[in-house]
Amino acid sequence: MAKENIRACSAEEIAAFLTANGEKAFRGKQVWQWIWQRGVTGFEEMTNLPKVTRQKLEEAFYFDRLHAERVQEASDGTRKTAWRTVDGEVVESVLIPGREKYTVCVSSQAGCKLGCKFCATGGLGFRRDLTRGEIFQQITAAREEAEARGSLLSNIVFMGMGEPLLNYGHVTGAIGRVTAEDGLGMSPYRITISTAGLPEGIRRLADEGTRCNLAVSLHSAKDSVRSALMPVNKAYPLKALAESLKYFVERTGTRPTLEYLLLRGINDSPEDAKALAVYCRQFPVKINLIEYNETGHPDFHRSPERNRDEFIRYLEGCNMVVNLRHSKGKDIDAACGQLAGKV
Ligand code: SAH
Ligand code: SF4
Repeated sequence: MAKENIRACSAEEIAAFLTANGEKAFRGKQVWQWIWQRGVTGFEEMTNLPKVTRQKLEEAFYFDRLHAERVQEASDGTRKTAWRTVDGEVVESVLIPGREKYTVCVSSQAGCKLGCKFCATGGLGFRRDLTRGEIFQQITAAREEAEARGSLLSNIVFMGMGEPLLNYGHVTGAIGRVTAEDGLGMSPYRITISTAGLPEGIRRLADEGTRCNLAVSLHSAKDSVRSALMPVNKAYPLKALAESLKYFVERTGTRPTLEYLLLRGINDSPEDAKALAVYCRQFPVKINLIEYNETGHPDFHRSPERNRDEFIRYLEGCNMVVNLRHSKGKDIDAACGQLAGKV
């Protein structure tokens, strides 16, 4: 019989397997804690279980464990890990040092279906969704590394490879384990889901009462420009996106962040800033301006400082909350959108 993926099983399924195989009921809880509180990725690590019990588990189940294939560390302490999945896919996550604590940027899919023109992941095409366990493991590994450096992991952002709302079940499943009392017990307020802007997924998050932060990659408030950059805008143009964001704000009472990548000569003129300000009148938002990380694409370049500063000044003049996000880990291609699994 084929083995089952233990990180895809519910607590009840694991408990039922154990009792059906002559084990005491409390063993189920122990196994569950090993997986989701301690973050183990092998049965041999479950040291409070008798050897025979571990053997029974080993015969029936496997871990969809990620194997760290390559680790690169930048001069600023940013650390990128390329993970190999059991079926040979490569995904990346990045640990980013902050002023006090760490943030991890995790991948939700191997590749991406949405093919944004400026994005290195988008150029890869789509391989497959990551599982709950694979997403979770990127987080526990980051937590261990932050602790090994004498700090803590405080934030999780879904800004690695893939579109999290196209892998809704596994992403929310992993978040469920990260935030659960019998999981890592982290606050949902410290988790950010970044999406290219899929209205159905945004509404679903709102309906299910998410307490995570939502970031939307806008990159232009003009349909023609946005569609050229992000093909997804043809299916879900700015108006449909705005409707879903209004709904999100109404249902959750939290304000989303709009991410705006400044691209030289494409979306960084005063007129673009004005379009953005007008778009943002529809709902309460924060703006994150992002500096482009060169990916080698001939058409896309970082905006010159002059354009960038003028853009910021315009928005601030409209009383908008604007942040400028500098990228870290530049010397190891560890910044958002550069994750392409170059192994
Ligand atoms: N698919 C999701 C999350 C992953 S991308 C999304 O698109 O939001 C995470 C962020 O990195 C997005 O805002 C994306 O637009 C941005 N990004 C992509 N390529 C980039 C690059 N070369 N430089 C800087 N940011 C980039
Ligand atoms: Fe996919 Fe996000 Fe990259 Fe677009 S920016 S291709 S949605 S990962």
